[in-house]
Amino acid sequence: MICTNCFEAECSAAKTELTININGESHVLRDLDCETCPDCGEITFTHSQSLEIDKKRIALEFGLKPLLAPDQLKTLRRLLDMKLDEICDLLHIGRNTYGRWERGEVEITPSMNLLVHNLIEKVPDARVNLLENERTIAINKANALLLEQYISFGEYLREVIATTRLLPDVVCRLLNIELADLTKIENNDFTPEKISPEVTARIVQFFGLTLDNLKRLLNATLTIFDMKNSATMVHARSTSYDAKGAAVQNSSVNKVLEKLAQKRGGDQLKKQVSDEYFAKVKTALDDLRREGGGA
Ligand SMILES: [Zn+2]
Repeated sequence: MICTNCFEAECSAAKTELTININGESHVLRDLDCETCPDCGEITFTHSQSLEIDKKRIALEFGLKPLLAPDQLKTLRRLLDMKLDEICDLLHIGRNTYGRWERGEVEITPSMNLLVHNLIEKVPDARVNLLENERTIAINKANALLLEQYISFGEYLREVIATTRLLPDVVCRLLNIELADLTKIENNDFTPEKISPEVTARIVQFFGLTLDNLKRLLNATLTIFDMKNSATMVHARSTSYDAKGAAVQNSSVNKVLEKLAQKRGGDQLKKQVSDEYFAKVKTALDDLRREGGGA
């Protein structure tokens, strides 16, 4: 084939690589057959060579979509607020199919997995709750604003979850903690050192915090906790005493104290969370990273 660029020489077979973009990330396809001109260096692909590149790109794109787990499929349907037959109609699949995936009776097929991933990409809340890279982006964005402020560990968690629109139970599942415990941590219901270092380490890792961030957040919690103890008398007079009422009450008490602590500028000279506790968190964090790295 004569070179269509310079018309000076006959092209010959060669190998090349191409950088392609999938979901905003660059990937390199290597060892691709092409034709190259010995005179001007122009690279061209024949029709069948282009077809091979398309196939490789599609295979890569398929391979990059992790197979959705039953939990994720359940969460997606909840986010879309759809009944089983509604989502089956939407995806043009048999009436029982989605339910079987959700219950883990059968694994979603690779082609349906790709279709559902396409659906997830169109729903912002689903992206954040189901896709790790999207979650990281949203959390980093929220952190940039939240970590600038004087804020307690509990109020930080509540705010970062609300801002990113993560579902609290999704967060709990990923952190491996109970929803009731998350609520207690959000309300600064116990002194920071009562939170197990392993749980704190998982929170630090999940929300991309540094140990310095953690120190500031936990010291603020300690201040709030001390203030709360002096406010208990007011709190005890409350009439709404079912569990839900109490949680709402605790949350608003915390908000009021948070504002007060902000005004006071954080009482930096008061008690601080012990270095021992941070050392334990750091050890737990190192363990987590080793586990993650070794997998
Ligand atoms: Zn040429």
